[in-house]
Amino acid sequence: MSSGLITTAYIAAGVLFILSLGGLSNQETARRGNLYGILGMAIALVATVLGSEVTGYALIIVTMGIGGAIGVMVSRKVQMTQMPELVAILHSFVGMAAVLVGIAGYLDPEMHYAGIEKTIHEVEVFLGVFIGAVTFTGSVVAFGKLRGTIGSRPLLLPFRHLINLAAIGVTLGIGVLFVGAQGMGYPLFGLIVMTLIAFGLGWHMVMAIGGADMPVVISMLNSYSGWAAAATGFMLGNDLLIIAGALVGSSGAILSYIMCKAMNRSLANVILGGFGTSGGTVVEGGQQGEAIATSLEETASLLKHAKNVVIVPGYGMAVAQAQHPVFELTERLKKDGVNVRFAIHPVAGRMPGHMNVLLAEARVPYDIVLEMDEINDDLGDTDAVLVIGANDIVNPSALEDPNSPIAGMPVLEVWNADTVVVLKRSMATGYAGVENPLFFKENTRMLFGDAKESITGLLAAV
Ligand code: NDP
Repeated sequence: MSSGLITTAYIAAGVLFILSLGGLSNQETARRGNLYGILGMAIALVATVLGSEVTGYALIIVTMGIGGAIGVMVSRKVQMTQMPELVAILHSFVGMAAVLVGIAGYLDPEMHYAGIEKTIHEVEVFLGVFIGAVTFTGSVVAFGKLRGTIGSRPLLLPFRHLINLAAIGVTLGIGVLFVGAQGMGYPLFGLIVMTLIAFGLGWHMVMAIGGADMPVVISMLNSYSGWAAAATGFMLGNDLLIIAGALVGSSGAILSYIMCKAMNRSLANVILGGFGTSGGTVVEGGQQGEAIATSLEETASLLKHAKNVVIVPGYGMAVAQAQHPVFELTERLKKDGVNVRFAIHPVAGRMPGHMNVLLAEARVPYDIVLEMDEINDDLGDTDAVLVIGANDIVNPSALEDPNSPIAGMPVLEVWNADTVVVLKRSMATGYAGVENPLFFKENTRMLFGDAKESITGLLAAV
């Protein structure tokens, strides 16, 4: 393929990536955005493989075949609830790729430059490997925390900020010695030591994040993986990789900022890992009074006689795959003249936009799906709120208990409604592991059971 054609293909792919991001910013256009992204990536792959530097086609076809087959298998098997952990582990691959490309680029005799070009190349290698290594271990820990193999409690080592600062200080020192050093032996040793320190730093930074702050970490790692890809693009001299990496890096950074604002956290707090996290009052089994259980019949009668109903979906709705019966229930109530709306907390579920995706899949109309800021003030005038598999996002201790690990996080103030019915299987805590006083309030009723079974039962009873 001629270089002119490759440049044209790269520009077309770059434009498609930008259109893709534009499409993904809105539910109505998200599907189209996805298609643009797939098309852009297909063009990028073909143009890169047909480039003049690529020669070993047999090896590329075999590795792409194996990688593609694994990708298809995993995407067919993965459950919707496992998507966040899949995304986290994919970020770790980008990080590891940046580390390997960086070290390989440093060792490659064809990539040895002189003068200012040598300095630039060494800075690219050093930064790319550092960001890649932090992204790799950080994402592996995030994967473990989302999967539940690593507990959601923050790991608060003594002197943890000093440890982080020391790691960054040593890295900077090695970087100064590495850039401009002559020969291969010592600089390579420095590069490997820095990689190990960066692995440790990524691990420690994410281990120190408490459960409820994980959404911000996920979007931060998303951003890091973009910057790691951009750094790889610089190392390889591939313009499209730089563009794609910068797009992922900056959109991830914007998402992190939005999530931080939604969670009332500062970005520095999250980047430094557990900065300012007090011991907190993570309660796993305590009781705060008597919770009042209710039945399907009672709840059905409450809904039938209500004028305004708000549904708050949470992670449990995703686990139960209850979105389709929830849509049917909504339609049934609307037919009976009940005003039904949905309230979406920015960190509901396990990934940004998780609930919006599920509701869109069940064809719930977008105009009745409202963000937390749009609906919180209306909850006081609501007859009944149905909390379906949500817990942390409706926890009043975020506002009432300054020692709570989720203190300061804005929540849906459902307790202001006349009656709240919480659909969940037990009195267990949510992701942050914090006891929820909502369950013990006078106007709260607990409808125990799997959310899908309960909603199906309600459909029969209304
Ligand atoms: P939570 O994890 O707080 O609570 C979910 C509740 O659902 C549980 O208490 C559980 O109770 C219930 N549940 C589970 N399965 C079922 C089922 N089959 N039927 C009925 N109920 C069920 O979820 P929220 O959505 O309220 O909050 C999200 C949490 O996840 C926040 O802490 C957030 O910080 C964190 N997080 C969010 C991310 C994001 O990007 N959105 C990413 C990472 C973390 P029981 O077992 O008793 O049924």
